[in-house]
Amino acid sequence: QGVLDKQLTLGDFVYRVLKQSISDMERMFSLLEIESEIKDSQGAPPLAVRSAEVRFEHVSFSYEPPRQILRDLTFTIAAGTTTAVVGHSGSGKSTLVRLLLRFYDVDKAGGGRIVIDGQDIRAVTQDSLRAAMGIVPQDTVLFNDTIYHNITYGRPSAARDEVIAAARHAHIHAFIESLPAGYDTLVGERGLKLSGGEKQRIAIARALLKDPHILIFDEATSALDSRAERSIQQALEQIARNRTTLIIAHRLSTVIHAQQILVMDQGRIIERGTHHELLAAGNVYAQMWALQHQQHAPTGEDEMLPLVAD
Ligand code: ATP
Repeated sequence: QGVLDKQLTLGDFVYRVLKQSISDMERMFSLLEIESEIKDSQGAPPLAVRSAEVRFEHVSFSYEPPRQILRDLTFTIAAGTTTAVVGHSGSGKSTLVRLLLRFYDVDKAGGGRIVIDGQDIRAVTQDSLRAAMGIVPQDTVLFNDTIYHNITYGRPSAARDEVIAAARHAHIHAFIESLPAGYDTLVGERGLKLSGGEKQRIAIARALLKDPHILIFDEATSALDSRAERSIQQALEQIARNRTTLIIAHRLSTVIHAQQILVMDQGRIIERGTHHELLAAGNVYAQMWALQHQQHAPTGEDEMLPLVAD
């Protein structure tokens, strides 16, 4: 890899840039080596990861001042724990992730800071910052290559048994083995088309192989069938265990096990706690949950449905 896929037309590219999902951004930065507006400060040291505690301290941000998108966000993702962010479309969930990846910096004046193990992310190299993080995006873009190489993109030097172990943990190994060409099956725009759930599990395998200190999981909003959903849920639990994890969540099944849930509204955190604490508090989260439960309980699959309607 290393260059823009020849098959990718300019139109596709522009569409992707405009669409601006986290996966596209990651791809753009890492493959196209497009210069980010963000520069490393001179002589910046690499991030020294110890326990991988992530803290947002009074973070405020606007893409285009004066319209503020994030307002005074303060929270900690304790080392090795999972924080899930929920909220309506446009409440600022993806923006929060873009700041953690440092695609943008917090506002210059009074914008607070983001620290990992006590280090302001603006003070360390971007390479080291991104090396510490693994992303499972909502819509995984697969390269026009074999499944095997799509997984090893997470760590090209990985040995074959490590690749297979990662695929097993991501609940995608059996599926891959069932294909006539197995791991050598060509995927991507010119190869086998995979479902959203299959692609997301490939992305989980890729992230597992990278074995990052910090994992960011952007849950797909589109509905998956309940088997695929459960499979992804199990894979996620596996990868998130004892790893600092930030999930942009759309489903109750994903949120319930998080050590902390942040409910966002118009760029602010309006509630926080565990699923049980938030239910007991009887405020916004509890209402959303009750509403959904009421609406969908007869199907018996209420936990699979989107947590927050757009
Ligand atoms: P969704 O659940 O739909 O993905 P979200 O909670 O992730 O939504 P964000 O994508 O963070 O929301 O967007 C928050 C706000 O920031 C929205 O009002 C959006 O219009 C605005 N926004 C996002 N990207 C940009 C940008 N590049 N320039 C200007 N405004 C932007």
